[in-house]
Amino acid sequence: MIYALLPIGSEGLATSYSDMAVVLAAILAVAVLIVLALLVWVSTKSRKSLEKLADTASRLSQGEWTARVPIDPYRKSDAFSEVGYAFNRMANEMKLRYDRSRRERDQLQTVLTNMSDGVLAVDGQGIVRLVNRAFLRYFRTVFDNPIGHAHTEAFRDRGLNTLVQEMLDGTASDLSELVVAEPTRRILVLRSAPIADADDQSDVRGVIVARDVTARRRVEQMRRDFVANVSHELRTPLTAILGYVEALKDTGLPTPERTRFLETISRNATRMNRIVADLLELSRIEAPDYRPEISRFALRPIVEEIGTNVQAALAGKSQTFATKLDPSIDTVHGDRDAVYRILYNLTDNAHKYTPDGGHIEVVSQRQDDSILLIVQDDGIGVPEQDRPRLFERFFRVDRARSRESGGTGLGLSIVKHLAEALGGSVRYEPNVPRGSRFVVTLPQDVQPNTTDRKDN
Ligand code: ADP
Repeated sequence: MIYALLPIGSEGLATSYSDMAVVLAAILAVAVLIVLALLVWVSTKSRKSLEKLADTASRLSQGEWTARVPIDPYRKSDAFSEVGYAFNRMANEMKLRYDRSRRERDQLQTVLTNMSDGVLAVDGQGIVRLVNRAFLRYFRTVFDNPIGHAHTEAFRDRGLNTLVQEMLDGTASDLSELVVAEPTRRILVLRSAPIADADDQSDVRGVIVARDVTARRRVEQMRRDFVANVSHELRTPLTAILGYVEALKDTGLPTPERTRFLETISRNATRMNRIVADLLELSRIEAPDYRPEISRFALRPIVEEIGTNVQAALAGKSQTFATKLDPSIDTVHGDRDAVYRILYNLTDNAHKYTPDGGHIEVVSQRQDDSILLIVQDDGIGVPEQDRPRLFERFFRVDRARSRESGGTGLGLSIVKHLAEALGGSVRYEPNVPRGSRFVVTLPQDVQPNTTDRKDN
């Protein structure tokens, strides 16, 4: 522009053109340099930003959930910082989801570990993928950790392994019952659940859930036995009554016969009455709302009252009744009526199962924080093999003998339940040199036990 304003000749014009070309070339060169510098700057900057992005992505993929793209908040925002912010928001969201799924997994793990049902999950090749503590309690395994081993190697129970295989083959029934001998004899109900939509062989393909029903089955069996026993016990006298009533219909029956039949009917009716009374007594003590009436009372008068009440029966067999009461136990804390029934039942049994001329003794003793009430005799005793069942309902060592002496087979069961209701227990010991010793242990201060009583 400056040249254009100057007065110029033809050489001057030539000179000025060539200068202008130089200047233009210089300007162009500078511009190219600037553009090149800018390009280098931009590419370095973008490469660095891309490197930061790649580095953050790689750290995140390696589980470093705190990794974020570093962004300078004081710098003007550009395309790269926008991408960085978006990337970091995505990382935050991923971390939240990861934390949530980890929490859910931990909760599931805690539930699985602590549930009383056993759980076993296997993949398509029968490899154990998951097993909880309860399952390992029910089924013995040769490995410390059976996960990763074939179920047939990890568990030796044939019933279980057959079920797992059937589940994988799709032929297992939903529910099956199994008696596991090892490590403890348990009755288990196994529920198998195949998972049809597993993608590949290493996915879980089926789950077995094992529930221990041993206690339930035992109670059911006891109930069945009990009903059968009651029916049997009542049917015998009832059949006799019906038979004699039928015979009495014969009007031509001589009077002595008639009297004998009536006596038999009366005896059998009394027996039925006794059984029903004892059953009612048992169900009263076993009722969930049964509460012993706790008070502090003197022991000696109870024992003396029993002595008086059995005196006539004892005299009939020339038996003696003695007491040996610890003078330091003048009073007992408990249910007076229950303690009377316990001691009376045991004394009556001692009388029934001791031959003529035998000796019966009631003893009280202190042992640590407990009081022992002992009824012992020098009678026939209980054979060793029968002792474990002695306190079961309707159990008798000698059925005929018990029936003859008017027994119902429920007396010791009542004693046991009463002692347990008072927070105590009862056990049998052979007396020396012969006879029986029933030892009732009662706590010094009774905390009535109404929850944890056995079922027999
Ligand atoms: P029962 O009504 O038959 O006497 P129990 O429940 O009182 O029923 O006793 C159960 C069984 O225990 C009796 O049939 C008897 O065989 C045995 N038994 C109980 N007490 C004694 C004892 N003092 N000596 C020997 N056997 C006994």
